[in-house]
Amino acid sequence: IYILAIESSCDDTSAAVLSNDKTLSNVVATQKIHEEYGGVVPELASRAHQQNIVPVVHQALIKANIDKKQLSAIAFTRGPGLMGSLLVGTSFSKSLALGLQIPLIEVNHMQAHILAHFINDGTQDNQPEFPFLAMTISGGHTQIVLVKDYFDMQVLGQTLDDAVGEAFDKSAKILGLPYPGGPLLDKYAQLGNPKAFVFPKPKVADLNFSFSGLKTSILYFVQRETQNNPDFIQENLNDICASIQYTIVKILMDKVKKAVKLTGITQVAIGGGVSANSGIRSALKAAEKKEGWTTFIPKFEYCTDNAAMIGIVGYLKYKEGNFAQQDISAKARYTIQES
Ligand code: ATP
Ligand code: FE
Repeated sequence: IYILAIESSCDDTSAAVLSNDKTLSNVVATQKIHEEYGGVVPELASRAHQQNIVPVVHQALIKANIDKKQLSAIAFTRGPGLMGSLLVGTSFSKSLALGLQIPLIEVNHMQAHILAHFINDGTQDNQPEFPFLAMTISGGHTQIVLVKDYFDMQVLGQTLDDAVGEAFDKSAKILGLPYPGGPLLDKYAQLGNPKAFVFPKPKVADLNFSFSGLKTSILYFVQRETQNNPDFIQENLNDICASIQYTIVKILMDKVKKAVKLTGITQVAIGGGVSANSGIRSALKAAEKKEGWTTFIPKFEYCTDNAAMIGIVGYLKYKEGNFAQQDISAKARYTIQES
């Protein structure tokens, strides 16, 4: 069977083609337009999706060397995400499925970030076995999830305010770095001293997270220091970035350690854009040795938004005959447990 998968939940338009569970192509068009606004502008995102979707799907089919008439089903991101963006992928998928008279499969974007570990592009090493713990760390979410089966997931804890990706992006913005600042902050952090400055860690009960206090304390810190020395940021950029990253990674690692203790599960996977971060990747690798965990870290291209992860969920649902109806609509708020 051949599945076409479409992802359009935020600011990346992506299409992938799978042959059974195997990814044949995964094309991603990243929208540059948001850079000049310092964040994603929803209206511009949906307009860019409209412009990108046909060429991106076309390229994915060409790269896979598959004609659309050969497709068995179309999988698409139903939510969560920006309504205008989701509508483009949803409407496109519904129309194409109707035209080709093939089934439609709806996919929850956050489930897909977790199930990205089952993507098969021919280069994969081990996959997690059930049950495992997944920490989804992205631009809109921060969750610790108990994954009992492909479609049996339980959220054990989540952020009470900002997502960790937002914490990275907003900290970077305070430092005057362009959007999206997360990857840049990571780049400078690798050159700095993580112990140079100390930022407070939030006191949040259970397995929940909070990042808004950290953002505020970074803002006050920078305001205070630049009053004394206007060049403070330029002179200390690497050390500031390293210290911020160290604090965020510590917050994440403390919680996931707690989750391992509570559940007794030592298989730990991460997913979502922030899993591209060098600090969290090396902290997990270190825990593998020190704590005896088995850790699963996605390849870079499957950390941020991509259609290959939508495709693998599509394939798993196809096998179960779990199809969507033509009257299905996009869902901006859509929890893992609902789907
Ligand atoms: P969600 O998946 O919650 O709907 P999203 O799809 O917008 O949100 P992703 O594409 O999964 O989010 O992740 C984007 C986020 O990942 C951004 O906040 C970006 O700054 C962050 N990010 C990407 N690479 C890195 C990195 N190396 N270090 C830190 N943050 C990073
Ligand atoms: Fe995402």
